[in-house]
Amino acid sequence: MELPATADIVIIGGGVMGASAAYHLALRGMKNIILLEKEDFFGTGATGRCAGGVRYQFSTDINIKLSLESLPMIERFKDEVGQDVNYRQCGYLLVATSEKDASAFKRNIELQNSLGVQTKLLSGDDVRACLPLMHFADAIAGTFHQKDGLVDPNSVVMGYINAATRMGAKTFNGVEVTGIRVSGDGIEAVETTQGLIKTRTVLNAAGPWSSLIGQMAGVHLPVVPIRRQMFTTTPLKEIPSDFPFVIDFAHSLYFHREGQGLLIGMSNQNEEPGYDQSIDEEFELVNLEAAIARMPLVEKAGRVSHWAGLYEVTPDAHPIYGATRLDGFCVCTGFSGHGFMHGPVSGKLMSEFILDGRFTTIDVSMLDLARFEEGRLIKEYNVV
Ligand SMILES: Cc1cc2nc3c(=O)[nH]c(=O)nc-3n(C[C@H](O)[C@H](O)[C@H](O)COP(=O)(O)OP(=O)(O)OC[C@H]3O[C@@H](n4cnc5c(N)ncnc54)[C@H](O)[C@@H]3O)c2cc1C
Repeated sequence: MELPATADIVIIGGGVMGASAAYHLALRGMKNIILLEKEDFFGTGATGRCAGGVRYQFSTDINIKLSLESLPMIERFKDEVGQDVNYRQCGYLLVATSEKDASAFKRNIELQNSLGVQTKLLSGDDVRACLPLMHFADAIAGTFHQKDGLVDPNSVVMGYINAATRMGAKTFNGVEVTGIRVSGDGIEAVETTQGLIKTRTVLNAAGPWSSLIGQMAGVHLPVVPIRRQMFTTTPLKEIPSDFPFVIDFAHSLYFHREGQGLLIGMSNQNEEPGYDQSIDEEFELVNLEAAIARMPLVEKAGRVSHWAGLYEVTPDAHPIYGATRLDGFCVCTGFSGHGFMHGPVSGKLMSEFILDGRFTTIDVSMLDLARFEEGRLIKEYNVV
């Protein structure tokens, strides 16, 4: 298909944010939507490299509210969007090994419960009883919520892309945005590797690359790419089918069932910002040793696959939604390691912002770009 010369909106990025926004705009009847993805396949950026975890367990009111809208959208996905996304509600079990984290967990649970999320507080003994295959002698407390779990990222992206396309949106892969032409206070056109598209409206949904797109438009976005990596193991028959998504919070070390084996990841707290997506072999060994210390049976497993991807991180670990100082240039980015699960509602929110000028499903107006200059930061504690 040839690239159209004009568009009512150009969405940059074919990850979960761009795909969900295209779907929700098309659902509202918007015509002449163009989505551009630079890679040969949709959803191969952060979305395709993510752990697929979805949870209600956050520490801020707004993140919990985003989950309260987004996760039911994932539950309804097959009926509404027409694609099975394999939502497995295995629960997230977060483990605290310090008094500081244990107190924070208690505060978080109170907030979650007050908003209707039925997370349970566990004692150290409860944690040990729930996880007999793991060594958690130092566990002080834990939190568990059964409806947290796992979802297939590729199915969510392709579900949205296919449904948006059926409704008339034009989605292109293998087309890279190389520039944004600005005239006066607004956007004039988007330059791509396959030609120019005239448009007055652009949605920057380029995830870890969104600050580069911002630069093209002369808009500074405080979003930095930070590498994260994980690996999967050969089958481990000891892992029960209801094994939860376990997070050793102090070490940002996590385990969840993947096929018959495990997916294991750990965040390197010393990782410098950058676009490198190759595996850091040295850190993989650190991760492996930490994993074996927590779960000795990992030692007898083989590695099936490993990969790295980029978090798109903001200074307060919350996303940025909405307007910039450039007319028509809006953003949906900066999800800081937990954006896959908020993709469904975020696309819907951006469709409201673009078509109605305000967010109606949830008021996310406090998550605007201006908050960084105005010092209105809202810190999330549950970052993995
Ligand atoms: C290792 C890892 C584990 C994670 N685990 C989880 C998890 O368990 N749960 C969770 O909710 N979140 C998780 N996340 C975070 C989540 O993946 C992201 O927050 C989310 O996928 C961001 O979606 P996006 O659409 O904004 O970005 P992306 O999926 O990166 O999409 C942006 C797209 O823009 C494209 N693009 C960039 N520049 C251009 C250009 N110039 N022209 C055209 N296209 C361009 C890119 O190729 C990319 O496909 C994880 C992330 C990583 C890296």
